[in-house]
Amino acid sequence: MNSSRPNNKKIVIAVDGFSSCGKSTFAKMVAAHLGYIFIDTGAMYRAVTLWAIENGCVENGILNEERLIKGLDVIQIDFRFNPDRGASDIYLCGEWAEGKIRTITVSNLVSAVSAIGEVRRRLVKLQQAMGRDKGVVMDGRDIGTVVFPDAELKIFMTADPEVRAERRYQELLAKGEEVSREEIIENIRQRDHLDQTRAISPLRKADDAIVLDNGGMTLAEEMEWFDEIFKLRVKE
Ligand code: C5P
Repeated sequence: MNSSRPNNKKIVIAVDGFSSCGKSTFAKMVAAHLGYIFIDTGAMYRAVTLWAIENGCVENGILNEERLIKGLDVIQIDFRFNPDRGASDIYLCGEWAEGKIRTITVSNLVSAVSAIGEVRRRLVKLQQAMGRDKGVVMDGRDIGTVVFPDAELKIFMTADPEVRAERRYQELLAKGEEVSREEIIENIRQRDHLDQTRAISPLRKADDAIVLDNGGMTLAEEMEWFDEIFKLRVKE
């Protein structure tokens, strides 16, 4: 792969798309390649969800929105670089939370949390502050449409739901979590549906985003694809 490190002008790269498309893996690789900062906004919605679970805002699997909204002022989220991972870990109220935000329990509640306007308003503000100086690759659902509508490069990722479910299943198995394939497929279907149909900032492709369907692609092929796009769209 040729290095795409261009001129010194740093830009914002928005990577949006469906659940479990490998957005974070792709965005992380692109960031490392360009010497940019990678920001996983899904981790931020997951961290708020974890807080809700740990602070009595969920009863019998049902989210108490009012209680969560009342607690938002005390929720603190920050990222700290972890050299072992070559990426930043998320901290919730000063505590390492990276290992707790990707469980199926959090996944089953996160779309309800992310549909709350007040949650989105606060996280979007934080994300805009994180990307103010550019030189970031930010992945999520509304980065190219709401957080950075003027991002210089927008990528929209998608892949067949079965392919995505299998990837997420293997990921959770490797972590030792006991889940069934059916449970994962159901979670992905539900999140796709909720993310696309919510009233505020629904998941949709920005008009000027380029689609990457990575269903049959290796990571190396994804990076080759990115190199081409970067050369065409960004490099002078
Ligand atoms: O990217 P990930 O699957 O970890 O995101 C978890 C959830 O967070 C999504 O299903 C979506 O409901 C929410 N999300 C969002 N907006 C973002 C990033 C994630 O609503 N920018």
